[in-house]
Amino acid sequence: MDDLREKYGLIDYQGRILAGKYSVALRERVAELIRAFRAFDETGVPGIPYITAWRHQDNIMWYEFAGREFIQLFGCSVGDLAVQFREAVVDHRLFHRTEVEAGISETVRSSRELSGSRSGLRAEVAQKGNMEADYKIALAGNLAQVWFKDRARIETFAEDQVSISFGYLTDVTNEMVHKDLLEQIGYFDQLTNLPNRIIMGRSLELKIAEYDRNQIDDFFFLLLDIDHFKGVNDTFGHRAGDYVLATLGQVLNDVKRRSDEIGRFGGEEFYGTGLGDIFEGHEFSERIRRRIEVTPFVFEEQMIPVTVSIGVVAAGELKVVDENHLLEAADQRLYHAKRLGRNRVVWESVSR
Ligand code: GH3
Ligand code: MG
Ligand code: MG
Repeated sequence: MDDLREKYGLIDYQGRILAGKYSVALRERVAELIRAFRAFDETGVPGIPYITAWRHQDNIMWYEFAGREFIQLFGCSVGDLAVQFREAVVDHRLFHRTEVEAGISETVRSSRELSGSRSGLRAEVAQKGNMEADYKIALAGNLAQVWFKDRARIETFAEDQVSISFGYLTDVTNEMVHKDLLEQIGYFDQLTNLPNRIIMGRSLELKIAEYDRNQIDDFFFLLLDIDHFKGVNDTFGHRAGDYVLATLGQVLNDVKRRSDEIGRFGGEEFYGTGLGDIFEGHEFSERIRRRIEVTPFVFEEQMIPVTVSIGVVAAGELKVVDENHLLEAADQRLYHAKRLGRNRVVWESVSR
């Protein structure tokens, strides 16, 4: 009488919940989802729907439903899918929304770490309600590896001590290969973890294009140079110099707002760019300068004095706005900051 398989016409059902001793609420929900997901699967939409479930006590996950493409791909029954999938995962990235920052933080875990912390991962997302993850899959007998993006909603049934996760996978191999390439090519500086000059060029190109099309009113560009940095290396050693560069990178990252970009220009020089006119550029530069002035740089119990000089320019000040003119103006102002005694920001053109 309460066989939901029959009620919902799910004759070939291979999951556990509909046939098990679970609450009506959970069983109704699963049956309803299977029906909806089946219909979705029939439409031919490029996405692979699935429903999984796990009991909180043992955290072993199984499939309640998997789209046809999913089953074809792994060539196994729904009952074996969880094990097959886990064995095929060679890389895994979980994205979860953090309430504090409202941003997405990315955790990269190898599949070995993954199996060890599986329960942790699930517990973490269970409260959040939704999750997004990328899986790199290597299939037996198939040389090509595939990246899947997984977007799912998680619902917890307290009475049953069971959670279900339902969503769909999409093939994002092309996008991920592209992303990997960017990382490999080295668009990020190893020591400071900041974008490098290649990214700077690209960012400026985009900002200039937006400025030319009047999509933004103005933007500023700054060059920052550490004062007497050669002395830091000479007095405290090259490793201490590297420490200062890496720490400075962190401080800069900390000071910047979401719309600003800070990167390593090369050596002990950094660049920055953000939206706003020269006054805002000046304010931002001053904030950086002051922050570095008060940050203690301590390496192997030695206090290293660190100050910086900054030259900043806004696009609105220039007759011709291109990368060369921005660089030239910022560099001239930086040079003047040095001549005026260092540890300062110059934001006006000074005649020699
Ligand atoms: P100023 O105040 O005029 O800028 O003086 P400065 O000593 O900072 O300027 P200078 O250009 O003479 O010296 C820059 C030094 O930065 C020289 C170089 O050895 C050092 N440097 C550049 N890149 C690195 C790095 O990656 N690590 C370390 N430890 N030092 C670096
Ligand atoms: Mg320099
Ligand atoms: Mg210097």
